[in-house]
Amino acid sequence: MPTTGRQHRITGRARHPHWHLAPWLVQSSSCINCDACLKACPAEFGAVVQRRFNVVIVPELCSGCGRCAPACPVDCIVEDPDWTPAPDAWWDDVKVDARV
Ligand code: SF4
Ligand code: SF4
Repeated sequence: MPTTGRQHRITGRARHPHWHLAPWLVQSSSCINCDACLKACPAEFGAVVQRRFNVVIVPELCSGCGRCAPACPVDCIVEDPDWTPAPDAWWDDVKVDARV
């Protein structure tokens, strides 16, 4: 299987160098865990990750396209210009195939 951009970002744990938009962030205190953002995030990015009790956006995989935000019924997805690297534990939940 050829290496894709997303796989490359997973391996390197780094954002695409040409992405200039800030990643987005799930405000977990308001999230109702409906998975709408998971479905709205394009597979080429696959930045929304289901963890055991919540969903998170892995900033290194998030292009900043903003498609997930209008899908959220409680408006709890916001831009995160001051993002910090995803914790190691989040990467354990990143699937190589974003749709699995
Ligand atoms: S901003 Fe785009 S890439 Fe980032 S989580 Fe939302 S839909 Fe996915
Ligand atoms: S769409 Fe909003 S409420 Fe639903 S899982 Fe995503 S962040 Fe949470």
